[in-house]
Amino acid sequence: MSHPTHIAFIGVGNMGNPMAANLIKAGHHVTVMDRAVEKTQNLAALGAKVANNIQEAVQGADVIFASLPGPAQVREVMLGSSGPGLIDCVKKGSVVIDTSTSAPDLVKQIVAKAKTLGVDFLEAPVTNAVDFAALGRLSIFVGGDEGAYQRCLPLFNVIGEKIFYVGQPGNGATVKLLTNLLWFVSAATIGEGLMLGAKAGVPLHTVWEAIKSSAGNSWVAEHDVPSIFAGHYDPSFSLALCVKDLTLINDIAKSQGYSLKMGEMAKSLFQEAVDKYGEQAAELHVVKLLEERVGLFLRPPMGESISVELPSKTLESSTQSKVRGNTTAPVLRQPSIMAQAHQHMPQGVAENYRYWGDDKTLFIQSAEGCCLTDCDGRTFVDFRLGYGPIILGYRDKRVDQAVVDQIQNRGTLSGFATELDTEVVEQIKGLCPQIEKVRFANSGTEAVMGAVRTARGYTKRDRIVIVEGGFHGLYDEMMWKSDIEHWNLGDVNAPNVIPFGAGIPHKTRDLVDIIGLNDEAALEHVFKTRGDTLACVVLEPIIGNAGSIAATPKWLARLRELCNQNGSLLIIDEVKSGFRVAKGGAQSLYGIHADLTTFAKAMGNGYPVAAFGGRADVMNVVGSHAGGVVHGGTYTANLVALSAAHATLDILANTNALKTCEQVGRDIQAVLGRVFTHAGIEHAFAGPGAMFGVHFTPHVPTTYRDWKKTNSELYRRFAWQLIEHGLMLEPDSREPWFICEAHQHVDLSWLEDVATRSIQVALNTAS
Ligand code: PLP
Repeated sequence: MSHPTHIAFIGVGNMGNPMAANLIKAGHHVTVMDRAVEKTQNLAALGAKVANNIQEAVQGADVIFASLPGPAQVREVMLGSSGPGLIDCVKKGSVVIDTSTSAPDLVKQIVAKAKTLGVDFLEAPVTNAVDFAALGRLSIFVGGDEGAYQRCLPLFNVIGEKIFYVGQPGNGATVKLLTNLLWFVSAATIGEGLMLGAKAGVPLHTVWEAIKSSAGNSWVAEHDVPSIFAGHYDPSFSLALCVKDLTLINDIAKSQGYSLKMGEMAKSLFQEAVDKYGEQAAELHVVKLLEERVGLFLRPPMGESISVELPSKTLESSTQSKVRGNTTAPVLRQPSIMAQAHQHMPQGVAENYRYWGDDKTLFIQSAEGCCLTDCDGRTFVDFRLGYGPIILGYRDKRVDQAVVDQIQNRGTLSGFATELDTEVVEQIKGLCPQIEKVRFANSGTEAVMGAVRTARGYTKRDRIVIVEGGFHGLYDEMMWKSDIEHWNLGDVNAPNVIPFGAGIPHKTRDLVDIIGLNDEAALEHVFKTRGDTLACVVLEPIIGNAGSIAATPKWLARLRELCNQNGSLLIIDEVKSGFRVAKGGAQSLYGIHADLTTFAKAMGNGYPVAAFGGRADVMNVVGSHAGGVVHGGTYTANLVALSAAHATLDILANTNALKTCEQVGRDIQAVLGRVFTHAGIEHAFAGPGAMFGVHFTPHVPTTYRDWKKTNSELYRRFAWQLIEHGLMLEPDSREPWFICEAHQHVDLSWLEDVATRSIQVALNTAS
């Protein structure tokens, strides 16, 4: 198949639309057609041609895709009802790919007709939901000529992730339908299981946990029970579609000479639900049918306790299951845990930023993938990710296993050098070309401290410059900030510079200047007045502590130039952006390199490891030689940290993990953007997909002072609602949304629903 291919896409509704969009984004020439012209608009904006009828659409196309509601429409479109069908209009030698859920006999009929016209027809029903279609992650069951399948494989790979060639025409429909049979039977029986437990007097949450921990577990058990407990069902798949598919399934069995007991029973049950609730009602109404028949609704009472040990694994990191948060469990244990913790730690927490008030402070029981489970069994899809270190996912097996091997076979530390030290530095250098030599540390704070001390040792100067809105850890001199909270918009004077808190010696302020990001005058001024005393400028070019507000390339280039001209060093703090926004960090996005760089967070996927490094001539001042810069630490380059870094960097270097994070971040922005637009809220996203800021303002802020123009109070209310609904984030728009590889499994339709409900409540709540 030549690239780009001339493609026609017929039917661009729910599923067809994202598939067509992915083909356009992959660079193909796509003409789209849908009876509802408005559905083609977004595709036209992406560069698709829009045709008025099928004949016009397929003209000149080498491959024709279709995505239609069911067999009736497939028959009409492919074979025509009164006039010629699509098959009659396509050119000889072309391939028609039908992604609809069709019927095997119909597929065979179309294939036979297509053959007489010199056309290949492949059936390719797809499964997984609309959000997977958008991510190009569908599973596809292709039946038909194998040669045609092989030729079209590059196109299938654009729209899908798991492509199964299932042989002769009709087999694709059979495989698709049998997976639906299993789904529908699970939906019909999950209610029965819950009902049996409820009637016996077992608390519903206990029944649910028991099911999930048994051979009776299923996708439906894991994902649909919260909807059953809430009595609100996802409307995206209707009862009518269930009946249609079950009819097809039973017909397949009949055509093979037998009947399906479960299939027939399921069909009559779903038909009964259609008769009672209507065709468009959601498929889980089959459970409601049972509830009404028995006269007992499966709603756990408020305050119901779970009489099992809370699972350490609430969500399998299965590649296909869609991940949602679930906060239906009652909050029972948090208050007593909080009260007890108060007796032992200031504010009852191990670190200041974890205290969110007595009722809101979270106590986490376990984490896996992109989810956190708290002490009450509430599950959150987490976009805070511990302020950024998780880049693959919590408890990533690839990293954890490397650490376990290290501990069990070699030990955690010896206070001596290891070959692993050099190996990890080589990995960093492989990803970041500006790095020539490196030393390790255990936290971002320590890495920044090491870099600044090295810069001072090298330049033999003391003064440092930092940027408004940045954060560089807890080291005294870095604990000064612009007091934006008490600064008024429009004030020509800069915000006051204040310490982050008590205990910061005022003397440390004397060595620090703070300038505004992208403030050209301030940049020129600080070098003009102090250039020959400046050891270094330390900044995050994409400020991970101010909603990913970013330096302009021009301003950053001028900063680089002024550092060169004045003999000052440029330190780029990539503690948040490093190994996250790109393999080479923010510097590779700008093409501007620092003299020294700091790394931490994503470098170890949650293990405490950090580093600083850069130019060899600068780093060579570090050492135990006379006049050398002091650097050390008992736990420096310990083997737990380094084995985690080694495994993480290996994955980041050799897989598409960061590309996935970027894409998922963009997809989530698209969902949020849609929600905000519907709610009439002006909004802007700042920064890269893997670490993006959400700002309620018409324009992306370019300075920290601009952030003051955003409606951060509305954001705060929105964020608290999201948390209530099982989506975790920092309720401050200065903290970006962090994406990890495991977020690719998040159910985007759930996220859209939660965001829609949250923004409505936020808008309706007075500040
Ligand atoms: N530098 C930046 C850019 C940071 O965001 C942080 C922490 O968030 C630090 C340094 C300090 O890192 P740590 O918390 O590991 O000491």
